[in-house]
Order: sequence, then structure tokens, then C-alpha cells
Amino acid sequence: MRKPVVVLVGRPNVGKSTLFNRLAGERLAIVDDVPGTTRDRLLAEGEWTGHVFDVMDTGGIDPTTGGKDPLSIGSADYIEQIRVQAKAALELADVVLFLVDAEAGVTPADLEVAQILRRNQKKEEDGRLNPPVLLVVNKADNNALRNMASQFYELGMGDPYAISAVHGTGTGDLLDELVANFPQEPEEEGEPSVKIAIVGKPNAGKSSLLNCLMGEERAIVSPIAGTTRDAVDTFMMYNDIPVTLIDTAGIRRRGKVEPGVEKYSVLRAIRAIERADVALLVIDATTGITAQDTHIAGFILEAWKSTVVIVNKWDAVEKDNETMNLYTQKIRQELNFMDYVPILFISAKTGKRVDQVLPTALRVQEERLVRLSTSQLNKVIQDAQARHQPTTKSGQTLKIYYGTQVRSDPPTFMLYCNDPKLAHFSYRRFLENRIRENYTYLGTPIRLVFKSRR
Ligand code: GDP
Ligand code: GDP
Repeated sequence: MRKPVVVLVGRPNVGKSTLFNRLAGERLAIVDDVPGTTRDRLLAEGEWTGHVFDVMDTGGIDPTTGGKDPLSIGSADYIEQIRVQAKAALELADVVLFLVDAEAGVTPADLEVAQILRRNQKKEEDGRLNPPVLLVVNKADNNALRNMASQFYELGMGDPYAISAVHGTGTGDLLDELVANFPQEPEEEGEPSVKIAIVGKPNAGKSSLLNCLMGEERAIVSPIAGTTRDAVDTFMMYNDIPVTLIDTAGIRRRGKVEPGVEKYSVLRAIRAIERADVALLVIDATTGITAQDTHIAGFILEAWKSTVVIVNKWDAVEKDNETMNLYTQKIRQELNFMDYVPILFISAKTGKRVDQVLPTALRVQEERLVRLSTSQLNKVIQDAQARHQPTTKSGQTLKIYYGTQVRSDPPTFMLYCNDPKLAHFSYRRFLENRIRENYTYLGTPIRLVFKSRR
């Protein structure tokens, strides 16, 4: 089941990041273990009445500066930034939360955002607007301010929800409404397929790779009616296996590079990763692996999706016998938190080794589905403990009594032990490697869940 994505939009200072922090529930613990994956407060996981969702804050991308001096409010650039932000929100969201400020009342920037949202929402056959937008009147800290909320009907965005992000008042009703607006399952149309997302920095060659894959001899591409706004999906039969390629190039191509575009591209990548089984992480060989690539890799891991690293533009690199090794070493070093990923060196321009991309991705997907038998797993656990039993500084020893694979896709192992707190990162790593000696799970993360036996 795919997690719905909630995107916060609104002019600066209305309280987006405050609400974001309130909605952000538990973050996956793995974030702490993965270097280079601080989230720039762009994304967090929230939960309400059993519904888990991702929250994205377009405000994390400061529309007023784009890294330079602040733009003056109301200037042409400022309005343009707000426009870009609102459009990105519509593209990314299952539900948009449009924030305004009760104290400030309706401002020209609010009117601008409202207009863009209304113009760009899609009208479904049954009359619903997609994605739905909920109008949130923040900073309604008291009754007088709550009463001000009705003035925002002027924005033409339906009923305003008065809340105080700081105090938490009104957020329960808002969340009820939010959850009610999540898309109904199932989103998938047609037959099930292996979902492969093509992610990476702008200009790495994602579109070129997509075109190449579609042109492959083994690929029978059939245009499907794009599901809602994700119209960039490509469905194909590859050696009789149904495959959906999820592209992230999206709305970027308008000739002009917008400020903040790099960060929106990360949000787009996250959104695509969320829908995928396997992500092709496309790295530009002419620049080598960069912090942004590592960042995206971190998001793939956090979402527990599988990865194939694609080093593209290999034609443009001057090389000798050692070059591929050096690249491999460097990538392994930067992506040391996913040392299980296959790396392919390709050229989308010349087509070199592009024919290995889908077979590798499909093999990785197969490995995601492998189940170890309980006896196999317990032999691994026993051998591992015989080799190395972790003892903490206080002298306590972790004892794993037995384990079982509770699910595949991704492979998830429940390990019953004396005290889960004793299972530290390095020992988890050690165990994971022992499991991979038994079965490689190529390209696929392994989830170890420690449980107290009682
Ligand atoms: P953003 O720019 O939209 O992300 O806005 P912030 O979340 O940074 O908030 C801007 C300012 O408004 C900060 O000083 C917040 O403390 C304040 N703020 C946010 N929510 C509320 C609220 O519910 N009530 C009041 N009184 N202030 C708030
Ligand atoms: P995207 O932004 O990731 O979708 O990247 P594009 O597919 O638009 O490619 C960006 C630029 O890199 C374009 O000018 C492409 O022609 C070029 N490019 C893509 N793949 C290759 C490749 O394998 N070799 C070389 N030399 N250039 C490439």
C-alpha cells in the first residue's frame, strides 16, 4: 500500500514548518544511521488514527531567496517563486494543505497561491478536484482569531479550518478531514507490474535512459492512460514481465532553471521512490557521485526500496584500466550504508550496456521476494552468535533465541532476544552481513526487527 503524500504550501511565515513539526511523528530510526541523509526538514512521516502518511514542506525550500538575498514581498520574483512552489505542491501531493495566517488576514500572496491552486487542480469525472486542497487558517490562537477565519472564504478554496499550530488546537479536526481526503485504494490500474523509478540529479540523464529503455528490442511499450497526475509512467512488457517505469523529469522542462529546482527534484524523487519497488539511481559520470546522489540513496533506503546504481555518460569519461575500479570504490565509500547494490556503467547516449539495466533491476526485484526458511535463518543466527556475541560496556550480553522471516518485499526478519536495546548498529550490521552470506539479496535492504521474547 502506498503512503499518501501531504504537501504544505503557503507564503513564508504562515507557520508551515511549525505545523510540519507537529504533524511529523516518529521518524524512521534508520535516518540516524545513514550519513548524508539529514532531511532539511523537507519530509517526515506522520500518523493519524492509524493512517500513515508523508508530509512534505515546500517551505523548506525558501521561496524568498533561492539562496540569495531575500526578495521583497510582492516583487515579480517573489510572486514567481510562490507560483513555482504552488505548482510543485500540486504535482507532488495527494492532499495539499494551504496555510494562511489568521492575524494577517487575506494577503495578495495568498490570493496568488489560491489562484494557482484553483487553476491547476484537475477536475475528475465525478466533479471532485484533484488533488484536494484544504484551507488551513493558522495562528487562530483564540476565539477572536478563530472567528476571523471566515474572511478566508474570499480565497474560493472552500471551508477554512482554523487551527493553532503552536498550541495544537483545531489540528484534530483538520487531521480527520485530511485522512478522509486520502485517495482510495487501489490506485493501481491494469495488471500488477514491477515498478521501477528512475531517480537522480537534474541532468544525470534520466530522460535519456528512459527513452533508451523504451526503445529496447525486448521492450513492448504500451501507452496507458496515466493514473491521475502521474502521467509520466510508462508501462511495458519486458521479456513477458510487466514493468512500469516511473520517471521524475516531470514538469521541469520549460527551458528555464528555477531557483529551488534541485530541492523540488529531490521531493519528486521521493515521491517516485515511494511508488516504486526498485529505484535506478542515475549518477552522472562526468561529475562523479555527489552529496545529492547520496541524499537520494538515503531516501531509497529509508523507504526500504531496492536500488541499482547506474553510472551514466560513461562514454564521456576518459578512462584506462583502473577507472571503473576507482569509480566503484568511490561509490562504495559514499554509499557504504548500502554496500549490497549492483553498479552498472552505461551510456544512454551510445546505448552501451543499457541492455543490462532492466535485467538487473528485475533480478533485484526477484531477490526482494526471496524467503529464507526458518531453519536456514536460525542456523545463520547460531553461527553468528558462535562467532561473535556482543557485550555492552555494562557487561550485558545480547542473546538471540530464534528468528523468523515475517515478510518479504522487503525481506524482514523478526529476531526474538533477551533485550532489543542491546542490539546495536554494528551488531545489526554484522548479522545482516551473515544473512547476506547465506543469501545475497542483491540490491535489497534487509530489515531486522528485534523483539523481547516476553
Ligand atoms: P513558515 O515560514 O511558513 O514555515 O512559518 P514558521 O513555521 O517558521 O512560522 C513563522 C512564525 O509564526 C514563527 O515565529 C512561529 O512561531 C509563528 N507561528 C507558527 N504557528 C503559529 C500559531 O499557531 N500561532 C502563533 N501565534 N504563532 C505561530
Ligand atoms: P535528466 O535531467 O536526468 O532527465 O537528463 P537528460 O536525459 O535530459 O540529459 C541531460 C543531458 O545529458 C542532455 O544534454 C543529454 O544529451 C546528456 N546525456 C544523457 N545521457 C548521456 C550519456 O550517456 N552520455 C553523454 N555524453 N551525454 C548524455
